[in-house]
This record gives sequence, C-alpha cells and structure tokens, in this order.
Amino acid sequence: MAEDADVIVVGGGLAGLVAATEIADAGKRVIVVDQEGEQSLGGQAFWSFGGLFLVDSPEQRRLGIKDSYALALQDWIGTAGFDRDEDLWPKRWAEAYVAFAAGEKRDWLRAMGHRIFPVVGWAERGGYDAMGHGNSVPRFHVTWGTGPGIVEPFERRAREAQNSGRLTFRFRHRVDALAITNGTVEGVSGSVLEPTAVERGQSSSRRIVGEFTLRAQAVIVASGGIGGNHDLVRQNWPKRLGEPPKFMISGVPEHVDGRMIGITEAAGARLINRDRMWHYVEGIRNWAPIWPRHGIRILPGPSSMWFDATGKRLPAPLFPGSDTLGQLHYIMSTGYDYSWFILTQSIIKKEFALSGSEQNPDLTGKSWRMTINRATNKGAPEPVEAFKEKGADFIVRDNLADLVGAMNALSGDNLLALDQIKSQIEARDRQLTNPYVKDAQVMNIYNARRYIGDRLIRTARPHRILDPERGPLIAVKLNILTRKTLGGFETDLDSRVFGSNGEIIRGLYAAGEAAGFGGGGVHGYRSLEGTFLGGCLFSGRNAGRAAAKAAG
Ligand SMILES: Cc1cc2nc3c(=O)[nH]c(=O)nc-3n(C[C@H](O)[C@H](O)[C@H](O)COP(=O)(O)OP(=O)(O)OC[C@H]3O[C@@H](n4cnc5c(N)ncnc54)[C@H](O)[C@@H]3O)c2cc1C
Repeated sequence: MAEDADVIVVGGGLAGLVAATEIADAGKRVIVVDQEGEQSLGGQAFWSFGGLFLVDSPEQRRLGIKDSYALALQDWIGTAGFDRDEDLWPKRWAEAYVAFAAGEKRDWLRAMGHRIFPVVGWAERGGYDAMGHGNSVPRFHVTWGTGPGIVEPFERRAREAQNSGRLTFRFRHRVDALAITNGTVEGVSGSVLEPTAVERGQSSSRRIVGEFTLRAQAVIVASGGIGGNHDLVRQNWPKRLGEPPKFMISGVPEHVDGRMIGITEAAGARLINRDRMWHYVEGIRNWAPIWPRHGIRILPGPSSMWFDATGKRLPAPLFPGSDTLGQLHYIMSTGYDYSWFILTQSIIKKEFALSGSEQNPDLTGKSWRMTINRATNKGAPEPVEAFKEKGADFIVRDNLADLVGAMNALSGDNLLALDQIKSQIEARDRQLTNPYVKDAQVMNIYNARRYIGDRLIRTARPHRILDPERGPLIAVKLNILTRKTLGGFETDLDSRVFGSNGEIIRGLYAAGEAAGFGGGGVHGYRSLEGTFLGGCLFSGRNAGRAAAKAAG
C-alpha cells in the first residue's frame, strides 16, 4: 500500500512541531495529526511561561553566576534520585540533556530568532546538602515572549515546510490506534472530529464525523501527558505520597488527556515510571478560566510564610520555591490537600509571579516598558492584583484576627487558631532584629538577596510580616494543581520506543511529555524547572532527526 508520508507525528505540541520540522528540513515528507483544531497549535507550550533550563549561559555570566556542566549534572542527579532498574535510559538522557543545556541549546534556538529575558530566575532552590535536591544557582531563563515565543520559531519553520509541500497538518484528526504489521509500526488510524470554533485551549467537541487511516515508515508519538485527566492522575498516584488529593485543579488544558498513552501502551510500548508526576502545591483557582478546573501556579519568591491546613508552619527547608515534591509529600501527610501562604503587600508586589503566558502580558507582549514596571511599580503586576481582587483563594485584611477569621470561613474547616498563627509570625518577626539569625527561612531570604536578580525583581527587603506599614495582610489558599507527567515511554537516545519485551519497536518513536521528556523519565522524581520545554526540544529533535535518517 502507498505511504501517505515518510513519517507521521501524533501531536502538534512543541515536541511534535520540533520533530516534524526536523523531518521536513531533512527533505522528508511528514504529516502532523492533532485532535484539536488549528487554533490550538503548539499545545501546552503556548500557555507556558517559556522558562528554559540553561547552563553557563551568557545571561548567567552577566549576572555573576558561575555555572558548569559538572555542577548542573550534580544538581540533576541529586534532584532526580534515580533508583530503579528502569532508570537506565532516563539517566543516559539526563546526561545528554544537561550537556545539551550547557552546549548547543541556546545557540540553536538563537539562530531561529529566540531571545531570553536578561534576569535569570532561581527555581527549586533545595535546601538540603550539596548532593541533594535543587539548583545550586539560578538557571531558569524566561523566553522573551514566554510560551508563544518558544512555539513561534517552530511554527514558522512548520509553515514554511507546509508551503513547500513537505509538511501537512491534519487537525481534528484523533488517533485511536497504531497500525502494526509483523512488529513494525506502519501508520495510524482514527476518528475525524467535527470542526470546532472554540478559542485556543478551550475544550472542543469529541463528536466523530469520519474515519481515517494514514500510512508511513514511522510514527512519532508526541501526544503529551495525563495532567488534564484527573482520573488517570489519581490512578497513577504513588503510595509514597499517601492518598490522592480529593480536590485538585488543572494546570493544563483538557486535551492533555493521556488517551494516546494508553493506546500506545496497548500496542506493546513499554511505559515506565508512571507513578512519577510533577504537580504543584501553589495552585490558585483561575477567576477567568479557559479550560475546565483551570488553575494557575504561583511562582513564589522566598518570603511568604507557609502554613499547613491546621495552622502549623511548614518545616525547613520547605519554603516557597525550594522543593515541590517535598512540599507535596508534607502537605498530603497532614490529611488535607491544601495549605496557606500568609504575606504582606510588600511581598506580593515583588515576589508573586503567575506561571502562564496569558498571566504575563509584559513578557509575552515583549514590552520593555511594562516589564520595567515590575521593579518600579507600587503594586504587584496587574494580573497578580486582579487575582488579589477577584481570585476565590485570596483574602486581604488589615489585621491578623480578621485574616484568620476569613481563612477559616474560606476553608470551612475552622482549623486555624489566631493565637497559634500569631505566635509563629511574631517569633519569625523577632528574628529580623539582626542580620544573623537562626530561622532558616529568614537566612534563605538574606541568601537570595545576595543574588542581584533576586534583589532586583524577586525578593522583598526583609521586613516584619506584622508591620502595618507593609500591609495589608494577605492570605492565599493553595490547592494542588496537576501539571506534568514525568514517566513515559522508554526510549533510547534516538527516541526509539522499547517494547514490553525489551526490544525496540521498529518504526515507533516517542518525544516530549509522552516519553517522560526523554527515555521514559529524564527527571527521575523531581525537576529543576524549565526542563520540560527543553525536554520537548531535545527529545523532539532527536526523534525527528533519527526518524528522517531511518526513512529510506
Ligand atoms: C501553564 C503552563 C506553564 C508551563 N510553564 C513551563 C515552563 O516555564 N517551562 C517548562 O519547561 N515547561 C513549562 N510547562 C510545561 C510544558 O509546556 C509542557 O510539558 C510541554 O509543552 C509539553 O509538550 P508536548 O508536545 O509533549 O505535549 P502537548 O503540548 O500536550 O501536545 C500534545 C498534542 O497532542 C495532541 N494529541 C493528544 N492525543 C492525541 C491523539 N490521540 N490524536 C491526535 N492528537 C493527539 C494534543 O491535542 C496536543 O496538541 C508549562 C505548561 C503549562 C500548561
């Protein structure tokens, strides 16, 4: 039977776009199949903050940050905690990926017109020892233009390939099965969904209006993870984190449904590390939702005080921005699936950023004028102020008694005692009389401010939480927000998929979140952040190049 293309890519997210453009640029014919409409091209990456993990970049050097491959790999390995037989390929991917991030990643993107905001962020700071979790130095490089800015070069290349006839998009084509003959993947089949006029990111209809079959020499599965499917998240929830949360919000659109993962696994692909996921604990309900249960993650600076549902301060080193998985573990151990930040107006103004392209119109719109306002404005960035005003999880009061009363009313659990909260805040505030202190969070704040990037736009000058001059007081109820799938299909460095018998499945590749961002789980248990888009770039590129080379 005649082939429709040399390679079929399932998924027009970042990983799929990168793979497809590499195939087309190698002179091969490629079809990109996506269940969503054309308006959602780019998948999750469009909505992302565009943060990229880079090592020893010119941006870091300009800020006086000394980074190296050796330091970054030490951090990665300490963070990943690889401890399973199936971590063989993930670990190989980790080594190769850190080398990519310390090597050609930035230049490769730059040659396509990608640019970076000059202040490098410091995510996942750890707080254990040098071999433990966390970034020793700031490495989170925000794309100038955020998510759309990372999609743009690849969409442009894809459109060029489309114009020259080497790349074809099939939108509203949902793959339901892989075609396999004698152990070789030869194509896909599925349903044509009715046309849709929904806005980007909104849920689209699943009404079937036709069927399709496409044949090629290879298929690349780049269908994303499971974060939009809470049933799957709960099914895969690891015992080590206790019971799955009763209440969760979604940090991803509904098309991140995990359905294609099930289809590919049923066709014989080996899915590993499915219990490793990266969900956030600083989720807030979006007052202007785009997708169902839409939540936004606060990217917090280090100063907010963090309390569990019962009013106990989270133990060191679980401060904002230190250890996402450690925080999730602790919070789930309390028997409640939410926690609280208490902070001041001075802290929210300088330290709250919201993850998502639509929440950062200054960076997304590439407006220097608006971006500079972050450092000089009296209030927080407009989207943060809007959440403060309209967000269901925000409480603003002039005094602590009223604040705690409103917190109890919001949760409905009535677990917080004013005296208990007050004594913990006062104890912390007393530490501010001297610059040398015993409170580890306060030490952390002083340390953060030794980095010029944090001092400029990320870490408020240390002050008493109960200082009325710094008010009003703000409490934020923090929910668990689903986002990334860290496990996935086991792949070699060419993104070729292993079967359940340990042999490579001929003609089958996987990239992006579906492949655990490489190897079936390049992150191990935890991420250093900015590593997901990068994992899509690297695994998509490897898949595209290898599949193009293999195509006769
Ligand atoms: C708000 C937000 C902020 C983020 N910020 C960052 C950040 O700053 N840094 C970072 O590194 N990462 C970030 N991420 C994560 C990152 O964006 C994603 O992990 C990454 O974009 C996933 O890309 P993907 O191509 O693997 O999958 P997706 O983007 O999910 O694309 C998969 C595509 O496959 C299609 N598909 C699925 N199943 C089928 C099927 N059966 N048939 C046909 N098509 C199918 C889907 O419709 C979708 O278009 C963020 C994510 C979000 C949502």
